[in-house]
Amino acid sequence: MAGSPIVKKGKYQMNITTTVIGSYPYARMTPEEAIARAVDEQVEAGVDVISDGQVRADMVGIFAQGIAGFDVQGKKYNVVSKIGPADKAVSIGDLIIARDRAAGRAKVKGTLTGPTTMAHCAILMNGSPYKPHDMPKGAQSMIVDRELVMDMAHALAAEARFLTEAGFDTIQVDEPFFSMQDLDLDLGLEALGVVTKEIKTSALHVCGDITSAMKKLIDAPVDIIACEGGHMARIDWLTPAMLAEKKKQICWGVITVNSNDVETVEEVKVRIMTGVEKLGAENLLVSPDCGMRVRKPEAAKQKLVNMVLATREVERELA
Ligand SMILES: [Zn+2]
Repeated sequence: MAGSPIVKKGKYQMNITTTVIGSYPYARMTPEEAIARAVDEQVEAGVDVISDGQVRADMVGIFAQGIAGFDVQGKKYNVVSKIGPADKAVSIGDLIIARDRAAGRAKVKGTLTGPTTMAHCAILMNGSPYKPHDMPKGAQSMIVDRELVMDMAHALAAEARFLTEAGFDTIQVDEPFFSMQDLDLDLGLEALGVVTKEIKTSALHVCGDITSAMKKLIDAPVDIIACEGGHMARIDWLTPAMLAEKKKQICWGVITVNSNDVETVEEVKVRIMTGVEKLGAENLLVSPDCGMRVRKPEAAKQKLVNMVLATREVERELA
């Protein structure tokens, strides 16, 4: 790291924001208990921007239940008529519980499931005005009716507006499908822009390998792009100057979520420094790679503790 032009020691008042992607373990608890635990453990770990733990339903179901045009049957998100906004916010109740519980100890961010992911998970039934999904031979992604994606975007924009009006300034939009091969990313980003227009500080989270999608994601209409640091590290064309020009920050995933093995502080520091050396500390936030719903609660908590300890050590070393 010494001698790297990107690691500007002492130049900045180092403050790397720590955050989470969203979900937190919640088995065998009421939603209210699970939100309280998620908030307390994120705060105790020292995370700067926390979530409500997304403890209520799966990421599609929670919004499909409220958006007009859906008829949700268990895990089947049936679309039976034209998609339109819910008449009230569907995700705000848990966010307000979380904000009350946090009581100023950390900032709470909202999380929305993006229009592309919602559209791909929709099952078109009789009465739906949309063209059927098409799966071209050999392709890895379906072709989904543009009208469906854009109607979903306007419905989610209404949700974003409700959250913004309630004072949730930071809202993350999750689009796990954006890393899929053959997906219409141009349409996806256009739809995303309809949603983020209603958000003050917007983040986009994409799961999995974003190394090829990043060529387009770098122009996504968002302030922050959140993805796995392990994949980000393999992108050789991304520079601090480019991030400055595009007015973007990267939320660099430094914690694996597919194992209960807890990374040591030293291991996490190495991952953070990989991001700092590549993109500059001023362009970074850090988080786990993805949501932690399926982890053991003790592992989830300790992973966050070590993530924050490692970040604070990196800040001290760069100061
Ligand atoms: Zn993810």
